[in-house]
Amino acid sequence: MALIVQKYGGTSVADADRIKDVARRIAATRDEGNQVVVVISAMGDTTDRLIELAYQMAREPSERELDVLLSTGEIVSSTLLAMTLRDMGYAAISLSGAQAGIHTDSAHSRARILEVESKRVIKELETGNIVIVAGFQGVTGEMDVTTLGRGGSDTTAVALAASLGAEVCQKYTDVEGIYTADPRLVPEARLLSDIGYEEMLEMAGYGARVVHLRAVELGELYNIPILVASSFTQKPGTLIHGGASMEVRNKVTGIAHDLDIAKITVVGVPDRPGIAAAIFQPLAKAGINVDTVVQNASIDGVTDLTFTMAKRDLSEAMRVIEPIAKLIKARECISDSRVGKVSVIGTGIQSHPGYAARMFTALSERGVNIQMISTSEIRITCIIEEAGVEDAVRALHRAFELETGE
Ligand code: ADP
Ligand code: ASP
Ligand code: MG
Repeated sequence: MALIVQKYGGTSVADADRIKDVARRIAATRDEGNQVVVVISAMGDTTDRLIELAYQMAREPSERELDVLLSTGEIVSSTLLAMTLRDMGYAAISLSGAQAGIHTDSAHSRARILEVESKRVIKELETGNIVIVAGFQGVTGEMDVTTLGRGGSDTTAVALAASLGAEVCQKYTDVEGIYTADPRLVPEARLLSDIGYEEMLEMAGYGARVVHLRAVELGELYNIPILVASSFTQKPGTLIHGGASMEVRNKVTGIAHDLDIAKITVVGVPDRPGIAAAIFQPLAKAGINVDTVVQNASIDGVTDLTFTMAKRDLSEAMRVIEPIAKLIKARECISDSRVGKVSVIGTGIQSHPGYAARMFTALSERGVNIQMISTSEIRITCIIEEAGVEDAVRALHRAFELETGE
């Protein structure tokens, strides 16, 4: 008898029929003799609708209240699923994040899991229950409800799998697994049979939101294999795991893209020690996650500094940065939210310097202007105009012949 954690996303439980379908899948896993813990997302676009409602009530809804409100989406789906399973004759119980022992810090809307106290879940499993846990939520030491950030149910699932010592965490979603690029954008994208944590971290971190980045981080840390498969079919899906990916010979594994970025350029910055710290320390203090940073070579002791962040952080970043720019006697701050990024990812990149040239050539052939470049050992990222991102993804997919996998 194995212990399996399964996670079902919003599309998979969008209406009553879908919930019944998911219940049948869970029942089949139970019938095979497994203990089953299920983590569930809110139905369909419930979370978006709740956010819209909150913003109809207040210009800046209280973060604490907003977290309680959003957590209800997952409570609804978990209870409906437990009722369905019980009606089918299976012992099942729903638990909120707090009841399931998901303890977090108090950073509302982006809380981090500090500890999973799985006593209650284990007790329910031992009494023979299928345990349905409301995803995306936790509780602080003060018993305040928190949420883990959009897409956070994946992280709940992997955290539970790690704390329970589950064999595998299975994520069932609306695609058949991890593809070489977002299949909604690139119809000829190829399904990967497996992918290493390292590459998946780069894919998820650079825009492939098919698995929550922090779920992959936890998977790697606790060595929990994560299977990503469709909740609509019985196909085998993609296994995210440690060790070398079988696709390694392919050198480039996939293309990720992200439209949710904005950039700020601080123009005419005096080039002297301490300036970067003066700019980035206050941003970090304001909780703004700065991504790519580029500083030009200085001319006559003056330089430009450009960096990117999530679009939602742009106005706050400008609010923080403008007074500092004045203080350090920079000329001006320019913001631009019409940018996006495309990344080429694969463990083969580290040993093949030619891949960067191939990427830049493919982009130039499409008339794309590269504004910034950043790299890791296994990734090359270009910041480009937002309007050109989708075309760039398709062009890169062709340039690296990812549809054939040769
Ligand atoms: P869930 O609600 O089940 O967590 P998500 O919508 O968060 O599902 O993630 C699935 C979506 O991720 C897919 O519908 C797909 O459009 C998108 N996606 C982006 N990049 C990829 C990729 N490389 N492979 C598969 N899906 C991807
Ligand atoms: N319901 C939340 C969201 O839409 C969490 C999740 O689905 O993972 O972001
Ligand atoms: Mg998701």
